[in-house]
Amino acid sequence: MRLTESGIERMAADRLHADRPHLSGEQLAKFCPLCGAPLADRLIEEEQQVRKVCSGCGFIFYLNPKVVAGAVPRQGRDGRIWLLRRNISPGMGLWTFPGGYVDLGESVPDAAVRETFEETRLQVRIDGILNVYSYAHVGIVLVVYRATVTGGEAAPTPESQEARLFRLDEIPWGELAFTSTRDAMRDYVEHERKEPGSGHDK
Ligand SMILES: [Zn+2]
Repeated sequence: MRLTESGIERMAADRLHADRPHLSGEQLAKFCPLCGAPLADRLIEEEQQVRKVCSGCGFIFYLNPKVVAGAVPRQGRDGRIWLLRRNISPGMGLWTFPGGYVDLGESVPDAAVRETFEETRLQVRIDGILNVYSYAHVGIVLVVYRATVTGGEAAPTPESQEARLFRLDEIPWGELAFTSTRDAMRDYVEHERKEPGSGHDK
């Protein structure tokens, strides 16, 4: 019943995504972060766009996607990669590569290295960019790097139930956490097929 179980898990992952639709401006911001007065929808003439504008001080509250940094950590010569089983929602119990929100004051690659350590206890070196993943209905932009493990010892963390090495033909396609995880894994496999180990230690 493996296929059926995977199908259910994929549905669960998709539902989790559906549970977190791109929030409307109404839900995201009601009050001005500068003066605390209510925000109201106003047409900005120059942009011909309706924005959240402060009724007190005129501050325009722009709503933009957040940047998420991720890394696919490759181990040694045989091309296996580390994936982790998420211990937090959304995607609880499903597999992905390490990643998380970029902090203000931090570069995107630095965030990928930090998140990898926080979620797997592995130190990595960034080798190059894999791709950028952006979906109009999901309020994030995901930047994913190819990386090589340089140290540390994989261990579960508060954010990951386990970290495990996978050969590229062992990737648990039916149990990946998000659409972006599947898209990035597809790109990674294709990249490694064309240029095996490029930018990585051979
Ligand atoms: Zn204000």
